[in-house]
Amino acid sequence: MRAKGQAFVIGAGLAGLAAATHMAARGAKVTLFEASGQAGGRCRSYFDPNFDGVIDNGNHLVLSGNRAIYEYVNRIGSSASLTGPVRALFDFVDLESGARWTLKPNDGLLPWWVTSAARRVPGTSAGDYLSYAKLLFAGRRQTVGDLVDCSGPLWDRLMHPFLLAALNTEPQSASAQLAGAVLRETLAKGGQAYRPRIATPTLAAAFIDPALAFLKIRKAQVHFNERLRAITFAHRTAMALEFPDATRPVSSGDAVILAVPPWVARDLVPNLPAPTEYRSIVNAHFKIAAPLGAPAILGVVGGTAEWIFSFADRISVTVSGADAIVDKDREELAKILWADVARALDIPAALPTWQIVKEKRATFAATPDQDARRPVSQTGWRNFFLAGDWTDTGLPATIEGAVRSGETAAALALRQLSL
Ligand SMILES: Cc1cc2nc3c(=O)[nH]c(=O)nc-3n(C[C@H](O)[C@H](O)[C@H](O)COP(=O)(O)OP(=O)(O)OC[C@H]3O[C@@H](n4cnc5c(N)ncnc54)[C@H](O)[C@@H]3O)c2cc1C
Repeated sequence: MRAKGQAFVIGAGLAGLAAATHMAARGAKVTLFEASGQAGGRCRSYFDPNFDGVIDNGNHLVLSGNRAIYEYVNRIGSSASLTGPVRALFDFVDLESGARWTLKPNDGLLPWWVTSAARRVPGTSAGDYLSYAKLLFAGRRQTVGDLVDCSGPLWDRLMHPFLLAALNTEPQSASAQLAGAVLRETLAKGGQAYRPRIATPTLAAAFIDPALAFLKIRKAQVHFNERLRAITFAHRTAMALEFPDATRPVSSGDAVILAVPPWVARDLVPNLPAPTEYRSIVNAHFKIAAPLGAPAILGVVGGTAEWIFSFADRISVTVSGADAIVDKDREELAKILWADVARALDIPAALPTWQIVKEKRATFAATPDQDARRPVSQTGWRNFFLAGDWTDTGLPATIEGAVRSGETAAALALRQLSL
């Protein structure tokens, strides 16, 4: 069935693509506008001439239990591009002490792996893990540091790196409720829910190109280099979308989903509550094949590098919550991070061809104050909805949150379109 109204989606990041593909699958007439020349937003791949190869803006780790992500990749037909081990296994190295270990969580709900010294973090006891259960019942104003002891081997070797990666915010001052949401969807669900999954060979192959192909087949229109400049609101309705070259009228039977980052949304929507503080992520890409037997992902403690991702044609390093290093000179960063990689993976080679990607506003700061500023998808304008990792998904700024926000907005828009 075709609705009379049509759906406009602004922003072709994962929230916008999830919303657009969801609505196109249900028969809606969809038009997507993207300000830049490519889709993907903060999760994109591109050819880098200096690197002479395709790179991702940053490594993106997702997990086997990410329900919305799997619904999305199944819809667009790219689930085979998410690769990873058949069991939840996480290799770590401590660059200060030289210690190496592999976490081996069991699959089922009962986490008996914490009782096995061979499977848990060295130097920890089962009771240490139990103390983190408090985060599952956190209040909205509490920080992680209010509820758990932010010191000791379990903190240093697992919980700090894990929560820093998930929240992209120094965990001690981060929202305990968001940390609890991450634990609820991962550690609390058993190893089968948190097998690591990596977009292979690129983010575009798993998340972006198949979505654009899906939209094309369903005759959705996708316009690149179309930056929304203003929205006209009147009578509790979005009435028009103003682009540099044209103003498009919106009828009360249409639906508009705004899926842009928070700093853009605040300029376009009057009196919008939205996060105002952000945290950076630095990624380094090294053009060198990973040594045989290198783990697909290696957690690093005691260095500047935090996670090392090994691909057939490159090694990529992620540093989350990177505000302390983001302004450093690129070459200096490349040298520091390569030194960590060379030690962690035991590679004798000198600094290979490299690229540093700095994302200064990678995510909103996952503090209780910023979390409290996140709006829900439904707005006071009946044909106008919000999506984005920064809307009130209950999760930190992640692909899973972005996709869920797009699905929520799409469900509201479909109701508006009577589909
Ligand atoms: C380096 C890095 C590493 C990350 N690692 C992980 C990870 O390991 N795991 C994980 O789950 N998440 C990770 N994330 C977070 C994840 O990338 C984001 O949560 C997600 O991509 C956000 O999607 P979005 O659609 O909400 O926003 P965006 O991706 O920001 O999309 C918004 C889109 O709107 C467009 N736009 C802006 N203004 C306008 C306008 N006026 N008109 C039209 N279009 C406009 C933008 O160009 C953009 O394409 C990482 C992020 C970064 C930056």
